[in-house]
Amino acid sequence: MQKHFKKIRLVLALVFFAAFLVSFADFRGNMPSRWHSAILYLQFVPSVIKFFTPLAVLSLGFIVVLLLTLLAGRVYCSTICPLGVLQDFFIHIRLKWMPKKGLRFKQAHRVLRYSVLVLALISLLFTGVLVFNLLDPYALFGRMAANLYQPALGWTNNIIAKLIPASTLHAVKINTLHLASVSFAGGSLALLIYLSMAYERLYCNSICPVGTFLGLLSKISLFKLKINPSSCTQCGKCQSVCKSNCINIKNMHIDESRCVNCFNCIPICSENSITYKKSAIGLAKKPVTSSDGGRRLFLATTTAFLAAKALPVFAVNENKSEEEHEDKICFFSRGPIAPPGAIGIDHLKSSCVACHLCIAVCPTKVLQPSFLEYGFTGMNLPKMDFAVNYCNYECRKCGEVCPTGAIVKLEKEQKKLTQVGKVVLRMNKCIVETEATACGSCSEHCPTQAVKMVPYYNGLPAPEIDPSICIGCGACEYACPVTDPHPAIFVAANTLHVLAEKPKQEALETVVEEEFPF
Ligand code: SF4
Ligand code: SF4
Ligand code: SF4
Repeated sequence: MQKHFKKIRLVLALVFFAAFLVSFADFRGNMPSRWHSAILYLQFVPSVIKFFTPLAVLSLGFIVVLLLTLLAGRVYCSTICPLGVLQDFFIHIRLKWMPKKGLRFKQAHRVLRYSVLVLALISLLFTGVLVFNLLDPYALFGRMAANLYQPALGWTNNIIAKLIPASTLHAVKINTLHLASVSFAGGSLALLIYLSMAYERLYCNSICPVGTFLGLLSKISLFKLKINPSSCTQCGKCQSVCKSNCINIKNMHIDESRCVNCFNCIPICSENSITYKKSAIGLAKKPVTSSDGGRRLFLATTTAFLAAKALPVFAVNENKSEEEHEDKICFFSRGPIAPPGAIGIDHLKSSCVACHLCIAVCPTKVLQPSFLEYGFTGMNLPKMDFAVNYCNYECRKCGEVCPTGAIVKLEKEQKKLTQVGKVVLRMNKCIVETEATACGSCSEHCPTQAVKMVPYYNGLPAPEIDPSICIGCGACEYACPVTDPHPAIFVAANTLHVLAEKPKQEALETVVEEEFPF
């Protein structure tokens, strides 16, 4: 039976990986949100972060992963983590390409792996989740999928739809490519390809904070791979297929903190000397040495991590948006606009791992990756970009799919009242004023009638705004024909989202969804 573990693991890994690819290919946000949630449920860092939000009860996935690791070792790293599966794919290509350059045992980079984890935890105090955003395997994979894979898939789809009209494919709206996020995702992919082809699972065993943490737990897991010294001939075949470089055939030892349970070594051993078997929990055969200092440091900083993570969640409750909104705010100082459900910029910055799933599934593509708009510690987070499109009045997709609770799922009526920013009108730039021309595009597209047309002069109506009922959806800004170089009407961000007043008139029944609204 153990000979089949490798095949079973492979099938499960491919199923998980395919599910991720399907999730990030959801251009129009048509996939039911519960499917996204099910696919992402076991992702470790997002689940831990969500645990510290009011959605804690929905976020026990990381506890399942912890229990699984205590039972079976680092199965997460070889089966559930999409970045782990991607590395295995590149290692496989390398082995096919250069079959003679097999795999071999390498010493663990203990200082590096524990230092990275400790630094990541300490940095939480100063930069929030930034370092975790950069190193979390799920977030790294998500950015590659949203910024490289989804656009490539979209272009392929659109080319086929155009060339073969008889095909059932329809053209899809592709996310705008941003130099910073595409370069970042492309650079991460290139580095990952290099590391896995040259050093196999080096990222998992020396850099990834999740891998290091699960490695510590797997030392005391119930089931472990063991070499039977009485039947092992030290032929080294197992060592030559170990992607974690953790089988030391000289002393017939497997470093369980680095073993990712790929089970490649079991079927290759002709003597059946490697078995996956129950061992006594907590019994460390090796005495604790000075090299375990990193682990102690890790445990000490874990408390700091938990405290730091909890802080920003309590910090979002003051309402300062009212004072911050000034009528004379200009386009440049309007601030970045966080998506509805993000609660506010502080909450988004403290909980978002920048996986870009929300960006991938946003049906209107108004969500775009930020650069430095939220500041250095908020790089790559989702922001609303009304030059691209506007937020659909009925839509709540980003909050439904976000795995960390950085964007919370709003109820339908709550979404329609959540004010992410407020409308600002520059009447001196409006074409009713500058060209004495009838327009009204903003009012036509405002779902709450926070902009309405009122008599102005010579029978021409002009827009009049009521910021108290505006929700900051950006439809007016997107629809405004003025480019001077900015629209005559725009949305200024609320750093903390608030509830708008209920519209005095019936909100528009239908939501306008055409490509360009005038
Ligand atoms: S709620 Fe708005 S920002 Fe969020 S996915 Fe829908 S359209 Fe995009
Ligand atoms: S807000 Fe978007 S980018 Fe951030 S964690 Fe949620 S889904 Fe990922
Ligand atoms: S005024 Fe503009 S931003 Fe405000 S609700 Fe209307 S269309 Fe949306």
